[in-house]
Amino acid sequence: MRYDPDEIERVAQSVIDRGDLPLLGQDPNRTYRMGIMGGTFDPIHYGHLVTAEQAFDDLSLDVVVFMPAGNPAFKQDRDVVAGEDRYAMTLLATSDNPHFLASRFEVDRTGITYTADTLSLLREIYPTNVELYFITGADAIADIVRWHDAGRIGSLAKLVGATRPGYDLGHAEEAIRESGMDFDVTYLEVPALAISSSYLRERVRLGQSVRYLTPDEVGGYIHKHRLYGAKRGPYGALGKPWFGSKE
Ligand code: ATP
Ligand code: MG
Repeated sequence: MRYDPDEIERVAQSVIDRGDLPLLGQDPNRTYRMGIMGGTFDPIHYGHLVTAEQAFDDLSLDVVVFMPAGNPAFKQDRDVVAGEDRYAMTLLATSDNPHFLASRFEVDRTGITYTADTLSLLREIYPTNVELYFITGADAIADIVRWHDAGRIGSLAKLVGATRPGYDLGHAEEAIRESGMDFDVTYLEVPALAISSSYLRERVRLGQSVRYLTPDEVGGYIHKHRLYGAKRGPYGALGKPWFGSKE
């Protein structure tokens, strides 16, 4: 590939304009691999983090960008905490990992955020030597064929499907076969992690600890901001929220 300074300049400028995307693609003689971890992250937990770390290692990614969904297409049926809080928790959870980034890319978009739109915007920003890897749970892979513009997702990114405990891969593979669409999927065996955001929300609501299920900073944030019906706890021992009440 020919070195094109104008193209590099354009990429750099788009990344700078966006503020929180990685600068990738500068060297035309190599391929860059950008992992994108999409999710509601309501809240983020070790299942998400360990999956991203394993994808980073197994697929030799350069970076994994966590993008909390602004207004998730598939979670219209329940209240999701504010994007600002989900982004803050994602930022806290990823801050100590040099190859993880939290991005406002989706949170800042209005309307329902569709993965296909996110991927095509990224595709417009980055040159062709940057490959996009969309990391998701294997359960979500089976659903992807029903997502808005599934075919476009397959043409814009490679998919990484993390297996969750008790999940039969055959289901995902069959769903893809039946769709007749072309998806490049790599499956990852993530060690027994049955953690889910729903489980964390339920524990918080019941006044139970979320320590060791998510980084302490996230548990602290949840209690400090009284998310998910948090009452009081080890983080806010006064029994009063530290910064106003969300009730
Ligand atoms: P909820 O319980 O509300 O459905 P969740 O834990 O599944 O939340 P999401 O934000 O919906 O979290 O998930 C984001 C992405 O991470 C999805 O692709 C999901 O399949 C994947 N994921 C969630 N939990 C795990 C886990 N424990 N191991 C691997 N992947 C996971
Ligand atoms: Mg889920």
